[in-house]
Amino acid sequence: MYPMLKPALRRAWRGRNTVQFGVTPAHAVSLGPMDIATGSFLELLDGTRGLPLLREEARALDLSDRHVDLLIGRLASAGLLDDPRAGGPEAESLRRRAEVMDRQRPDVASLSVVHHEPGSALRRMVARRAMRVQVRGAGRVGAAIAAVLSGSGVGQVEVLDGGRAEPWDVSPAGLPAASVGERRDTAARRLVRRSAAGPAPRSARSAEAEQAAACGQPGLSLIVVAPRDGLAVYAPAADTAAPWIASGTPHLYAGVIEATGVVGPLVLPGGTGCAGCLELRRADADPQWPRMLAQWRSGRRGAVAACDLGLATTVAGMAAAHALSFLDGELPASAGARWEAALPVLDWRSERVGPHADCSCGAAERTEGERAFDSGTAQDTMAG
Ligand SMILES: [Zn+2]
Repeated sequence: MYPMLKPALRRAWRGRNTVQFGVTPAHAVSLGPMDIATGSFLELLDGTRGLPLLREEARALDLSDRHVDLLIGRLASAGLLDDPRAGGPEAESLRRRAEVMDRQRPDVASLSVVHHEPGSALRRMVARRAMRVQVRGAGRVGAAIAAVLSGSGVGQVEVLDGGRAEPWDVSPAGLPAASVGERRDTAARRLVRRSAAGPAPRSARSAEAEQAAACGQPGLSLIVVAPRDGLAVYAPAADTAAPWIASGTPHLYAGVIEATGVVGPLVLPGGTGCAGCLELRRADADPQWPRMLAQWRSGRRGAVAACDLGLATTVAGMAAAHALSFLDGELPASAGARWEAALPVLDWRSERVGPHADCSCGAAERTEGERAFDSGTAQDTMAG
């Protein structure tokens, strides 16, 4: 091991004998008591020295071997240590691709803050490269989500949409002006390629393709539902989601309707509330909801839909972050909930989308109510 204090976390002395690693409450850790010599020793933890050399240099600071071992142990269990050589052979091969690594250095640093074990940041970045995500929709929101996922290292990002790109689909984070008139799916595919830090490793691509062909299954890690029509996110159709529920494919909704941005729910089929649950809950709360929904869905829409560029980009960024958190093995706050922000105040609010007992997705039975879901049953079930 070549211990390195995670460079992503800023260090500061908190008083005379405590060191705080990290600035924000979400990830900051304080360790003490720490004397001046130990503080100087921390400077040596830059990933260039193995333990024998560290012990030797510590002796020069009058620090015993035992002191060094205890300190390293405490730093490691606090999640503050990385190891620039850890992560296995795949991490090593990614490390050797200097241009790709340079592009993704901030993302890897961010992963190192969130994930504790040495080498886990790079391992997760490697794992992203083998993942396949489908983004349904190539408007202002969908195209930007696809671009961000691709740029964040997701190996395969497919975008589905019909028709040709219109001038109002263009966004600095998504389709460029040059794509107007081009098939939306073709333009989005090029955007995804251009956003990637480098080509996906050939082995990952072919293995995934072989697996998909052999099983006749899509092999998708996640579907992001980001249609150009925001109503299909605000009131998603249960029948559209039925095949994803049946195949157990996690899916995340994101979009803009009128002047409201929506992120979520992230649906873990059979574990958290789905589009059907959401529709049933709304009908329970408002008996007129189904009648209005039918009118909205069938109404003619000649006008270009309202979609604020800032809000669309925010929604796309937040949805991509939730998607990445899930792909990295976590359960983001959109699981079983939806987040909404409306112009002009833009305060994000969340609303729980709980399972509905009458929904055929089975989440209500599986979780036996919110207590079981909150205790992590859904995560355990869905992770496997
Ligand atoms: Zn349901």
